[in-house]
Parts: sequence; structure tokens; C-alpha cells
Amino acid sequence: MAKLTKLDDIVSLCKRRGFIFQSSEIYGGLASCYDYGPLGVELKNNVKKAWWKSVVQMRDDVVGLDCSILMHPMVWKSSGHADKFADLIAECKKCNTRTRVDHLTDHTEEHTEHIDIDTAMAKSQDLSNKVCPNCGAVGQFTEPMPFKLMFETQMGANVDDSMTMHLRPETAQGIFANFRNVLDTTRVRIPFGIAQIGKSFRNEVTTKAFIFRTREFEQAELEFFCEPGTDEQWFEHWKEARFNWYLELGLKKENLHFREHDADELAHYAKGCVDVEYKFPFGSGDWQELEGIANRTDFDLRQHQRGMRTLNKWYESKGDMTKIELADEAEEYLKGPLSYFDDQKKQRYIPYVIEPSAGIDRSALAFLVDAYDEEEVRGETRNLLRFHHALAPVKAAIFPLVKKDGMPEIATNIYNDLKKYFNCFYDQKGAVGRRYRRQDEAGTPFCITVDGQTKEDNTVTVRQRDSMEQTRVSTDQLLGHLRVKLEA
Ligand code: ATP
Repeated sequence: MAKLTKLDDIVSLCKRRGFIFQSSEIYGGLASCYDYGPLGVELKNNVKKAWWKSVVQMRDDVVGLDCSILMHPMVWKSSGHADKFADLIAECKKCNTRTRVDHLTDHTEEHTEHIDIDTAMAKSQDLSNKVCPNCGAVGQFTEPMPFKLMFETQMGANVDDSMTMHLRPETAQGIFANFRNVLDTTRVRIPFGIAQIGKSFRNEVTTKAFIFRTREFEQAELEFFCEPGTDEQWFEHWKEARFNWYLELGLKKENLHFREHDADELAHYAKGCVDVEYKFPFGSGDWQELEGIANRTDFDLRQHQRGMRTLNKWYESKGDMTKIELADEAEEYLKGPLSYFDDQKKQRYIPYVIEPSAGIDRSALAFLVDAYDEEEVRGETRNLLRFHHALAPVKAAIFPLVKKDGMPEIATNIYNDLKKYFNCFYDQKGAVGRRYRRQDEAGTPFCITVDGQTKEDNTVTVRQRDSMEQTRVSTDQLLGHLRVKLEA
């Protein structure tokens, strides 16, 4: 029986085996920033590949995009981020620690849901029973205040024309800003989607829990444009598709569920929102968001149409966003460049948008947690990662049983041949049992061992990670044998 996975076990395995390191560790580390090591980068690339395959490659109605991280400041004014992308925080008067008000509880347990700032400001906040998560003081908080989450930076060398810019806090706005470009340069017709994977940055108030919530992270977002009136049906479609993606990649069903947002949690423009939640082994052991799926209506495209009409005001304001009022949309609505003309129905409209928005790092953490297992084998504990084959950083490890009798040469030839097709690893150091255990911890599904019999009959042993079962396979059938198993 596998024991309950603890985050500490995962963190130590990740460090020990080179999945994930603290950023700038040689200088004492940088809080809430992480580096992916040799195995981690392969895992993360595989998560991205699997997302891209399911959301773009396998579909006829989705195209991809890769936008810059720095965008025109009007993008953030129009999207609402410049004014509203903030968390409501309160400072503990005892220890000066600032905490998100929606993270404060009476029992110090963590809730992780961002609440729309307008909704949060409108609510009366009674913090008299709330506990400081740092020093434990009760009811010692300042009045809540908004804290802006976007990172600022300066662009340009000249004092006169240097501009304050923001690192993008989500990848979605690059997609909206390119809606017209994609429409004009490809054959897509509504309904269709535009997908992007890339880095986002948020100056999060509370981090912790390893790579679950960091200040620099990667998102995988799809904006799926559809005709108003068909949005609810597409919302259901993407809910199901995204939930199944996690299941197909091996997350256990009992650890995954949907959580519908309550009406008072919804952003004012959203018609519906549901989170795919995973039962992470930290905090109060509660369910935590893995991905959000929202019906964003026609809000974003309308806002950008207003923004485009406001551009001159932005230049006049010399970049001071507080001086800008977005243009009224009445005149532009339905006719602007971000509208869509359906040439069959002879109708123009602003498309509705369904947005599944996933975190690559958070998904990688869920896949690590879910795959982690410990079992007793002949009086010893075997740690292993039971990754889905598509996610395993290394697909096959090749060993000579001993470093003599021509075995290393045969094993090297096999390794050189197989690595053309998938990620392989060659290892000839130490006892073979220990080499198996190292690969179990890395989540490698197959170990191939060249032994004394190989020279006689051209067969090798193929050991399976999960069952530890060994079978003999002839070397000329090895590639086919592994490919069939890896794709199963
Ligand atoms: P949360 O409530 O957890 O702060 P959110 O609702 O603000 O998240 P979204 O803006 O919907 O998150 O972002 C979509 C996805 O991006 C999230 O489901 C999550 O997987 C990922 N994500 C968001 N913020 C972070 C972060 N700081 N670190 C890692 N991943 C993140």
C-alpha cells in the first residue's frame, strides 16, 4: 500500500535527482523562483508537448501563437490589469507580514482562490478573528489595501522616451491583441481557438508550497472564439476535454474534481467559471486550483476595441494610466476591427470566448505528486515515479551488466541507435540493482540490460519500471518493442 505522499518527500526527491532547484542557490536562493534541472526540464517540456498535442496538433479548429512578454501599455489598460489586477492585502501590526485577505482564515489554513478586486473591496472585511500565518497574532491586522501584482520595468535608454512597462501577468492578452492578425492570415473561421504557452509574472503576496505558486511561471492558455449563443455548449466541451487531459496523462480520478465558482467569486464580465482542482498534499490538504476554465463573453475583444480608439489619449497622458478613460464603445461595437463577419449568415458580431487556462508548473507538480510512490521490495524501500510514458523524462536506460566481456560496446551501440527516437540514458557504474533504483526514482519506464547471454543469442532484458518484470527481447526487435509499449 503506497503511503500518503508528502510535499517534503517530493521536494527532496526533486532536488536529489535534479528535477528542480531553488533559483540562485549558490547565493542563498531567491524566494519563490525555481530552476528546472536536467530531468525537470524534460518533464516540463513533455507536459507542454502533451498540452500542445491535445489542444493544437490534434484539432482542426485551433492554431498556435507565441507572443512577446512585453506589450504596449494600452494592452493592460484595456484588459483591466493596469487598474484592477491587485490582491487585497492586510499587514500584521505585530510582525509586519502582509497576507492576502482571502488567504486569511480563523484556523491559519490556506485558501488559494484569487477574488476579483472589485468584489473583494465591496465586501466588508472583518479581520478581528483572523490569524497571522507568520506570527500567529489574532486580529492584529491593518485595514485591507490593494496590492498591484504586475512587475514594472523600464524600456528604452533615453530619459525622454523611456517608458514604464509591465511583464505580462497572463499570456491571454497577446492572443486577443493578435485576433485580427490570425483571422487575416489564416483560413480559420469561427468557431476556432488560438493557443499559447509562455512565461507569466505576478508579484504574488504569498508564495510557498514549492512550484505551486511562484512569481515567475509558465501558463498554457487557449482562447476559443465562438458565436454568442453557442458559448455554453463550447464551455461544456472544453470542461470535459481539459478534465480528460489530466486523466489521460495518469492523474488519479479520486484526486481530481471540478469546482464551480460561486456568483460572488465571478469576475463581473464572466458568465461562468469552473476550476479543475487537484488534491495537493499541502496546506490543509485541501483541493487547490490546477486550471481555470471561464466563459469570458465578448469582454476582452470589446475592451481592446475601446483601447484602440483611446490610443491618442494614452500619448497625451505621457503614459500615466490614471489619466486615461477608455473610449465609449457604443459607436464601435459590432463594427470594429475586432468584430467578426460571418459570410454565410451575413452577420457581424463580437465573438464570445471560452478560456481554459492551465499552469505548466502547477501541472508538473501534480504529475510529480500523483506519480510518486514508495513500496517495500525484499525488505528495502523502493521510491519510484510512475509517470505516464508521455511524461517520463527518460524513456529507456541502457546498461551493460558488467564493464567487461564486450558488454559496454554492445550497450553503447544500442544506446546510440535508440536515442535517435526517444530520450535515453546510458549507465555502466555500480551494481545493476542500484542502477535500476536510480531509474525508478527518475520515472524511466524501461531499463535494458546487456548480459552474458546477449553475445550468444542477441537478446537483452527489458525491465518494466512499475511491475519490475523482466522479459528477453531480441536486439533487432527492441526498437519496435519499445515504441509499441511507449505509445500504448
Ligand atoms: P490562484 O487563485 O491560484 O492565484 P488564479 O485564479 O489567479 O490562481 P489564473 O489567473 O486563472 O489563476 O491562472 C490560470 C492558471 O495559471 C492557474 O490555474 C494556475 O495553474 C496558473 N497560475 C496562476 N498563478 C500562478 C502562480 N503564481 N504560480 C504558478 N502557477 C500559477
